[in-house]
Amino acid sequence: SLGQLKPISIEEVEETGVVGVSEIAHLDQQQLLSLDACMECGRCDDACPAFASGKPLSPKALVQDLKGLMQATANGGSVALHGDTIQAETVWACTSCNACVTACPVRVDPLGLLFDLRRDRAAEGALAGSAANSMRQMQTKGNPWGFPQAERLVWAEGLDVPLASDHPDFEILWWVGCAGSFDRRAQKVTRAIAKLLIKAGVNFAVLGPNECCTGDSARRLGDEFLFQELAEKNHSTLKQHSVRKILTQCPHCMNSLTHDYPQFGDQFEVVHHTEFLQQLIDEGKLTAPKRNGSVTYHDPCYLARVNGVHQAPRDLLGDGVSEMEQRREKTFCCGAGGGRMWMEEEADQRVSVLRAREAVETGAETVAVGCPFCLTMMTDGVKSCGSGAVVEDVAENLAKRLGL
Ligand code: SF4
Ligand code: SF4
Repeated sequence: SLGQLKPISIEEVEETGVVGVSEIAHLDQQQLLSLDACMECGRCDDACPAFASGKPLSPKALVQDLKGLMQATANGGSVALHGDTIQAETVWACTSCNACVTACPVRVDPLGLLFDLRRDRAAEGALAGSAANSMRQMQTKGNPWGFPQAERLVWAEGLDVPLASDHPDFEILWWVGCAGSFDRRAQKVTRAIAKLLIKAGVNFAVLGPNECCTGDSARRLGDEFLFQELAEKNHSTLKQHSVRKILTQCPHCMNSLTHDYPQFGDQFEVVHHTEFLQQLIDEGKLTAPKRNGSVTYHDPCYLARVNGVHQAPRDLLGDGVSEMEQRREKTFCCGAGGGRMWMEEEADQRVSVLRAREAVETGAETVAVGCPFCLTMMTDGVKSCGSGAVVEDVAENLAKRLGL
C-alpha cells in the first residue's frame, strides 16, 4: 500500500546475493505482470514532478523500457539493466511523491520499481556526492546534518520542555525529528509547537539526545540496512519508554513511524501536529483567533497523498484559504522527498520553483506548509519567483494569532 516498502533481511541477501534489482529476473511476478499491463496512457508522466521539471525521469518510459528489456531478455538478449536500459540520473531523480502510483489506472507502481533499482545502486556504492554524505552522517551521528546528538534540544532554550527520561508519565511522545531539532528555520516551527502544547496543558515529553533519525530518507534512497540499523535503535528507545502515541511535525517521520516501523514489530498511534492542534481546539484547550491576511496551503505529499491528512491544516488556517489547483491527495511535490533533499539540483530543474509559482499565482500573502522540508523548498522557490510571500508552518500561523 501507499507509503510502504517491502523489507529485505540480511539472511535473504546472504542466501541470494541479491539486494534490489539489477536484472529483469530480480523483479517479482507482480512487477513483471505490471510491465505488461501498462497501456502507455501517460497519466504517470502528467503527474510526475521530476518529469515536469525537466529531469531525466519519465515513469512511463521507465516502465516501457523495463518492459522492452523483459521481452529482449526472454528472447535471449543480454542488454544490461543499469546503464544500458535505465540511466543512473533517472533512478535518483525521483522524489518518491507517489503521484505516479495514484495516477495509474492499472496499478502499475513505477515508484516501487525505482526503489528496487535504488537498492541495487546503493548496495553497489553508486550513491555519491551530498546525498552519500548525508547518509554517512545519519550512520555516524544519528542525523543527516551531522550535528552532535547532544545538541538535539538546543531549540528548546528558555522553554519548559520535558524529557521522557525525567518525565516518564507523559501521555504523548513528541517526535521532533532531525529537521525540527537542527535546521535553524525549522527550529522556529518547533518552538511554536512547543508553546502551543504548553499553553494547552498537554502532557508530553521529547526524547532529546536519545531521538535518532528515523532513517526515512536512507530507506527511500535504497540503503535498507542503514534504515534498519536506525529503526532498531529507535525501536529500543521507544520500547524503553513504553511509547504508544507519537506526535510528529514531519510527514516523513510520520510516514516512517506509521508504515515502516510496524514491519519491525512497532505499533504506535501517530498523529501529525496539524491534526493534534485541531483536536486541542475542538476540545477547547486552545482557541484559534481569526486570521488576518490571505493564505494558501501547500499539501505535503507524505501528509496528504500518502497519509490522507489534508483537512486539519485547512481548519487550523480558518476560512477563505486561497486554494491551488493541485491540492489535497492530488498535491504537487515540493521536490524534497525520496532523499532529494540531500541532493544538488540543477537551477533550471527545480521542482520547488514549479510548485512555488503555483502558490504565488494564488496571490496569497502567506504560503502555509506542514512539513520542514516543504518549508525549506517553498521558501527557496518563492524567493526564486521574486515573490515577497511569507512561507510558514501552519503551527507558526496559529501561534502568532495567539500572540505566542
Ligand atoms: S514517485 Fe513522483 S517523482 Fe517519482 S516517478 Fe512517481 S511521480 Fe515521478
Ligand atoms: S499511468 Fe500506468 S498505464 Fe499509464 S503509462 Fe503510466 S504506468 Fe503505464
